[in-house]
Parts: sequence; structure tokens; C-alpha cells
Amino acid sequence: MPNNTKRCRYCKQKHLESEMVRVQMSWFCNYDHATKFALDKLEQKKEKEIKAKVKELKVKNKTLSQLKKEAEYYVNAYVRIRDEGKPCCSCSKPHQSGDQAGHFIAVGSCDELRFNTKNIHSQCIECNLYQSGNLLGYRDYMVKRYGEQLVNDFQDLARSKRINKWDRDYLIRLKDVFKRRCTHLKKIKNNQQKS
Ligand SMILES: [Zn+2]
Ligand SMILES: [Zn+2]
Repeated sequence: MPNNTKRCRYCKQKHLESEMVRVQMSWFCNYDHATKFALDKLEQKKEKEIKAKVKELKVKNKTLSQLKKEAEYYVNAYVRIRDEGKPCCSCSKPHQSGDQAGHFIAVGSCDELRFNTKNIHSQCIECNLYQSGNLLGYRDYMVKRYGEQLVNDFQDLARSKRINKWDRDYLIRLKDVFKRRCTHLKKIKNNQQKS
């Protein structure tokens, strides 16, 4: 077809095919534009590599406690999305906007259960902050939801005072996993609300 036109991949202008050049499956006004396009690509690739390196270095420089905080942020955010609209796990008061992610076994009592989502549920501020977790009510809820066995296992673990050490890579992965889970769960919940 003699009147076929193509768009230059570099400057996006349209021209007749017969007046253009073709380089590696793409059309360009001329070799100058083809070269510039290739150089831009190269530049972008370099920039990407540098950015990835910087990110890697940033992560390397983070302290264990920073990594723990970041993982915790997303685990707790996940729990809040999961339990959105549910009553307080300790006192059954209807959900309020300020409800928090409360641990059944406190972080200070058992570091190993810090990120366990079966140990964290939406809790009202009064129970979480002013009644030290309102554990009697919380225990009832745990037994109803997961059974006596799991609750006893959690309590045994806390009593064992086992020393726990978090692995850096594990914490980094945990953060990424829960960040993705938050996005995913939010999407599902939004779709449910629409339908
Ligand atoms: Zn061009
Ligand atoms: Zn409560």
C-alpha cells in the first residue's frame, strides 16, 4: 500500500512509510531519531539499575528494629482491613473508626507472636489502651474463634520465654507480603461493597 503511514517511535510524528526507516521492528523518521530513541532506552535502563541499587542499599542500612516496625505496620494494617466493621474482640462493642489492632498475647510477652494474624484482632481503644487488652474478654473470643488448643499453645509459648530472633530477610519478605495482602484485600472489599 503506497499511502501507508507509520508513527515514529521517538517523536510520535506520522509519516509515509516510504519516507521512514525501520530499525529492530520499529519505525523512525530517520536514523537520527532511531539513535536518540536507543540512547533514551539505554538511559532509562541505567536509571532503573541505579534506582534498584539505591533501594537495595537503603534496605541494607536499615536496622533490625526498623525492619520490624515496617513489617508490623503492614501486618496491623492488614488486620484492620480484615476486621473492618467487626465489633471489638474483647468487649463486643460495635466497630468504631479509631479501633486498633490489638494483640492477645502482648508483643512484650512473646515476640514470636508479634506478626501472627491469629494473635491480632480489631479492638476498641478503651480495651486496647486502658484495660491492658481486656484479656478475659479477648480469651473468650479466641476460644470461640480458634478453639481452646490454639489459645493454650499461644499461652504456653508466652510462658516458655523462648528467646526469639528475627531474620532480616524474613522481615523484608513479611513486609512485602502483607503490603500486597492489604492491597488485595482492599480491592476485594471494595468490589463486595459495589455489588
Ligand atoms: Zn521522529
Ligand atoms: Zn472493647
